[in-house]
Amino acid sequence: MPDCIFCKIVAGEIPSDIVYQDDEIIAFKDINPQAPHHILIIPCRHIETILDLTTDDTALIGKMILNANNIARKLGLSKNGYRLVFNCKHDGGQDVYHIHLHLLGGRKMTWPPG
Ligand code: 5GP
Ligand code: ZN
Repeated sequence: MPDCIFCKIVAGEIPSDIVYQDDEIIAFKDINPQAPHHILIIPCRHIETILDLTTDDTALIGKMILNANNIARKLGLSKNGYRLVFNCKHDGGQDVYHIHLHLLGGRKMTWPPG
């Protein structure tokens, strides 16, 4: 297991502002928010990139997305919408190599992304 900041958040070794937690996934506020609401939804299990997902993880990824939707509803984002993003490796802009789904909302997003 590499020295992983998100595994440490799962283990409670690094504090975070948790908005949802169960035995498979955890969601917490991004430390450097890029929108009025910026939540990260991650699996508790260490998976480096979305390229490492297998068919065994189909339910896990589905659960992450459905959980993001639930959080968005609770944050009042369902009327105007929001953005869900997985960054993958260097060109995708991935900095933390433990997969995470970004939930961004509360402002109009631009396209194309930077
Ligand atoms: P990436 O660039 O890998 O897609 O996104 C990593 C995200 O993790 C960034 O938005 C960054 O602000 C966030 N992040 C990095 N370290 C921490 C931390 O220790 N705590 C929290 N809450 N977010 C973090
Ligand atoms: Zn990890």
